[in-house]
Amino acid sequence: MTLSVETHAVSPSVAARLDLPPHVFVDGQALPALSGRTIPVLDPASGRRIGTAACGDPADVDRAVQAATRAFDPASPWRAMTPLERGKVLHRIGDAVLERADEFAELEVLDAGKVRGAARGIDVDFAARCFHYFAGWPTKIVGSTVPTSHPGVHIATEKDPVGVVGAITAWNFPLLLCGWKIAPALAAGCTVVLKPSEETPHSALWLAELAVEAGLPAGVLNVVPGRGQEAGQALVDHADVDKITFTGSTAVGKEIARRAADQVKRVTLELGGKSANIIFADADLDAAVEGSAGGIFWHSGQTCSAPSRLFVHRSVHDRVVEKLRAIADDLRPGHGLDETTELGPLVNESQQRKVAGHVRLAREQGASVHVGPAVPGEGFFHPATVISDARDDMACATEEIFGPVLTVLPFDDVDEVLRRADASEYGLAAGIWTRDVSIAHRATRALRAGTVYVNGWGLTDPAAPFGGYRQSGYGRDLGPDALEGYLETKSVWTFHG
Ligand code: NDP
Repeated sequence: MTLSVETHAVSPSVAARLDLPPHVFVDGQALPALSGRTIPVLDPASGRRIGTAACGDPADVDRAVQAATRAFDPASPWRAMTPLERGKVLHRIGDAVLERADEFAELEVLDAGKVRGAARGIDVDFAARCFHYFAGWPTKIVGSTVPTSHPGVHIATEKDPVGVVGAITAWNFPLLLCGWKIAPALAAGCTVVLKPSEETPHSALWLAELAVEAGLPAGVLNVVPGRGQEAGQALVDHADVDKITFTGSTAVGKEIARRAADQVKRVTLELGGKSANIIFADADLDAAVEGSAGGIFWHSGQTCSAPSRLFVHRSVHDRVVEKLRAIADDLRPGHGLDETTELGPLVNESQQRKVAGHVRLAREQGASVHVGPAVPGEGFFHPATVISDARDDMACATEEIFGPVLTVLPFDDVDEVLRRADASEYGLAAGIWTRDVSIAHRATRALRAGTVYVNGWGLTDPAAPFGGYRQSGYGRDLGPDALEGYLETKSVWTFHG
């Protein structure tokens, strides 16, 4: 049996989750926000209300941080757990996500405007894989002995969990980012207070419940939905939070870094991008065009590493633009719960206005703008758009648009394009398409970005570090580097007398 939430069939368990009373999840319990305030949650594909979230404020954050602090006490059940047991709990959390993969995917479609297939195959699957990958780490976190020149002294290093972690996440990957932030933090032995985006709170709250059912002691993972300016800021400012890990805009990342500096709080920032993607004349053009279009149009361009600046060798430029326009024309927009949909909506009306404003400006500045099919009716959609005849200094070529909008720029030679590709305040990802291995090596060395793709785009792996150069952030999510960000190194000196 299926229930209908507005116009689309939603499974009963998802409808039941959306109907839950608005709550925060603190100390293993679902509780109303202390103020009783709420935030409406909209389906981006219809603009209609699908749920109501608790609007946590500084008092809720304080209650959650207190729970996380108690759970981090040296005598707590969490700290007493062996590394092997900790790993098993993480593994069971990953299993619990996979057991409810279809429901989680539906929640992500409704909260974040995703397309069901991608939500299931990428967001949910990757979140589970993060827990499974980091489940292997607790038993492998080791210190070392130090070859000292002091006689009668033994020195060893130990790795300690950093403490209480405040995680603040964006709306573009609500569940997946839980995997990126929470899994390594728990593997290191930390406790967590997560503030999901106010737009997309549901999957994080469900994950926290499942984590307790999987054996995570109460208070180790707490979730406080709320507004960034209130709940987010309170988490950053709280004296008992030892580290902030953040994914979101560069502007908010800078604000967080400034505030966290007052308490010399550890900070990891995964911020925006304007990633350059370069198609050389010798590339397999069909593969390059398909990969580049997939990278920018997937999730309607709302990905931090979207390859939104495409440099194409002048000799193949017009052919590539023509192929890209054809792909934009063919993408079927619609509600993410429709199996035929290929292009979903933007997350909210303000993003829709922002993206439309960028496209309008590009047109006014003289660029050629090709727009794919529009979506009739409601929802925060923007058609797939290809901008050509633009200049490197136009906003469409320098600013993070965060929509399905690709700016194509011609180039003539290798040194020139590498210089232009790097002329950005960002440095999250970069891509090159060529069959020439020496160009590939030259480019991967020259490009200043946290991830460089050669003849492909967009895959991530729980074992591969992900993060930015320059204003795309600092620190890394995923892989051993992420784990390191949740650990402190302690030198232990023993004097033998
Ligand atoms: P934000 O950076 O504002 O939001 C990210 C998270 O930070 C949300 O949970 C938000 O809360 C919270 N937040 C906001 N302000 C503060 C604050 N002062 N202190 C602590 N936490 C805060 O991104 P937006 O959602 O506003 O998106 C704006 C633009 O940012 C997009 O157009 C895009 O360009 C970029 N962006 C980049 C992302 C990336 O992956 N690199 C992801 C998302 C956005 P709340 O839920 O209340 O907003």
